Formats: sequence, C-alpha cells, structure tokens
Amino acid sequence: MKQIIIIILLTLQIPVAFSQINYDDYFTEKTLRLDYTIGGNSDNFKVYFQQLKQEPFWSGPKTKLLDDFNFGDYKIIVLDSTKTDTIYTRGYSSLFAEWIDEKKSKTINRSFYESVIMPFPKHEINVKLQFRDKKTNFFDIFEIKISPNDYHIKKDKQTKFKSQKIYGTRKSNNTLDIVILPEGYTKEEMEKFHKDTKKNIDAFFEVEPFKSNKEKINFWIVDAISEESGTDIPGDNIWKNTILNSSFYTFDVERYLTTSDIKSVRDIAAYVPYDQIYILVNTEKYGGGGIYNYYNLCASDCYQSARIFTHEFGHAFAALADEYQYGFETAEELYDMSVEPWQANITNLSDFDKKWKNLTEKNTPIPTPNKFKDKIGAFEGAGYVKKGIYRPAYNCKMRSNSVNEFCPVCYDTVLKMLLFYTEE
Ligand SMILES: [Zn+2]
Repeated sequence: MKQIIIIILLTLQIPVAFSQINYDDYFTEKTLRLDYTIGGNSDNFKVYFQQLKQEPFWSGPKTKLLDDFNFGDYKIIVLDSTKTDTIYTRGYSSLFAEWIDEKKSKTINRSFYESVIMPFPKHEINVKLQFRDKKTNFFDIFEIKISPNDYHIKKDKQTKFKSQKIYGTRKSNNTLDIVILPEGYTKEEMEKFHKDTKKNIDAFFEVEPFKSNKEKINFWIVDAISEESGTDIPGDNIWKNTILNSSFYTFDVERYLTTSDIKSVRDIAAYVPYDQIYILVNTEKYGGGGIYNYYNLCASDCYQSARIFTHEFGHAFAALADEYQYGFETAEELYDMSVEPWQANITNLSDFDKKWKNLTEKNTPIPTPNKFKDKIGAFEGAGYVKKGIYRPAYNCKMRSNSVNEFCPVCYDTVLKMLLFYTEE
C-alpha cells in the first residue's frame, strides 16, 4: 500500500516539477524594467537598448511565471543563463505594433520608446524579445544578457508624489493590482481626481466578472500633479503641459487617446505594486485607448466615460480585439486570412474550432445572420473591418457602449485572466 502511494505521489509530482518554477529560486521581491527603443517601418525595424531599472515591488503572481495565453504582438522570454531554463514569459502589445499597420509606416521610419517588466532576478539571465509576423508566429527581435549586479541598473527612489491603496485588502501577489494615474490634473484638481477615480471604480464593479470577484482586486493611486489641466488635442491646436504627455488624434483617429511617453508612465506607476496601469485623463472630450499588458487610458468626463473605462480594460487586461468595423477597407490589410487572428474574440473562420465553436449551438448557422442575434455565433464585421472578420455575439462591450456587458467569449477570456492573476 505504501509503495502504491509513493508511486502515485511520484507520478503526480513529475509534471509539477517540470511545469512550475519556484519563484524564490530565481527572483527577488522587486521588479526589473527593461526600456528600449523600437524603430523602423512596416517591413524592417530594429530594437535598441535604452536602460535597466530596478523598481520596488513585484506584484505579479509568483506561481504563474509562464504565460500560456499566447496573446499579444510581442513576447518577453526570460531564461536562466546558467541552466537555460525558461523562467518567465509574458505577452504584450504596443503602439509601435499598431503603427506598422498604418499606411504611413510604408514610407516613414518612426521610433517608439517601450518598456517591459519582469521580476528582478537573483542570478544572471538572458532576456529575449519576440514579435509576431502576419502568420502570427513569433520571431526574435532582441536579446540581452543581464546580471543583477550590473551597476548600471538604475535604482532611483521615487518620493515626489503621494501614493495609496484605495480599494482592496489582499496582498499583491495573488491579487489583480490596478494603479490609476492622474493625467492633466493640476494640484488644485487632485480632489477631483479622487472623485473621478471613485466614480470609475464603482462603475467597474458593476460589470461581470469584476462584480463577483471584487475581493480579488486592489486599486492604487499616485497623486502625480500636472502643470496644466486637460490633454493635447492636436486637431484643435490645444497643447497642455501634463505629466504623462497624453494626446488625442493618435494615428489621426480623433478619439484615440494615448501617450508615447511610456518612460514617465512606468516611473510613476512604480510608486505602488501594479499589474495594470490605468491613466485617467482629465477631459470632457470622448476618447480612450487600451493596449495589452501596456496601459489603459480613458477620458474622465466624457459621455459614457465609465463604459469606456471597462471597454479599454478589455484590451489592456485580456487582449480583446475591438468588435466593431471601422478604419480599414479590407481584412487583408490587417490579417493573414489563412490563420486565425491571435485575439480570443475575433475569427476569420479559417480554424473556427480553435476559437469559440464549442460555445455555439448546432442549429446556429456559421457565419451567423443577424436574426440569430440572441445566440452565440460568428457575426460578420469586427476587428476594424466590415467583411471577413467575425465576432461572437451581436453586441458586446467590445463592440459598442450601448451595452455594459462582455459577450460570453469576452467574459470567459477576462475571467480566465483574472484567475491567472489571483489563484494561488
Ligand atoms: Zn465580445
């Protein structure tokens, strides 16, 4: 009997030993930040090293060091240089990855400052960055060996602004930590920032699956002060001196509100432990933006700003695609139609089994006509194009602000991600 138990235990332990990495063997409680510039055009681009920085907290899950979601335009892979084991991976996206889909990127070389974080290593590591080609396969774009003892790793202390946890009680490593940063709030407007933050958190918790998982989420704020109120609106020749340098009209889309100043964003976010960065922009103008594992932005006071808040979070947290049709003429401009897009909530039906076919009913036609609007199916028009790309439901938070819930596919993806961050 004893032998049988030992055999069972051994059999159970083997896959665990291979799939789990003991955090404390490899990492400290801090964050290592790698900043780089990526520049070029849609055909050719290069990554250039900028700086390394040690930040005070590691907030991510210690038991989920490898990311098997396979989302994002980029992947960071950290290898232990002595054993060559992969000890940390994460997918993410960036503004540059969007830029190379723009027509202008065919004729202009442009560079973007980017930044990626990982737990701070105890020993020498190799860090690889990979990028996805149109066939959605990853290829290497950058590699660097990093010693934790390198005296060039910056360790500046951040003390200028007040910071605090404003919601949640759990420790950071098994909690989703969201830091909200004020953008375009002057010293006199900090009280307004606190009110705007509360309004958005209340609205956030009205949406599932956040509503039923409130105890798994912490919210933090950093009272970072801007010189001037508002944000840049280039199309109206409005320019404001603000702490995170946000702007409307990103890639000539009026409502697309982003910032290229990722260095300032990371510096200020690092005051507190964070898994997601939310930039709340003090403006009445309609707009926002969300980039997977990068940042979220949302206008504080525009029409339906609370709904934009969670829509953008769908992008930045769960890598969800927009389910509307806008911006591009044909699907081929953005997608290789012979492979499925990597986002969970859109399909070109090239391999629908890999997507949400299991959630559809047998008698729901695929593609799905609008008269089946109450069913899960494949409704044409999504991912910025009218034809050839399909979405799971007639309507969803990722399609329009007229509904305040995620469709079942988006909901599942968000919930899975939430559990990834929060389950022991
Ligand atoms: Zn959806």
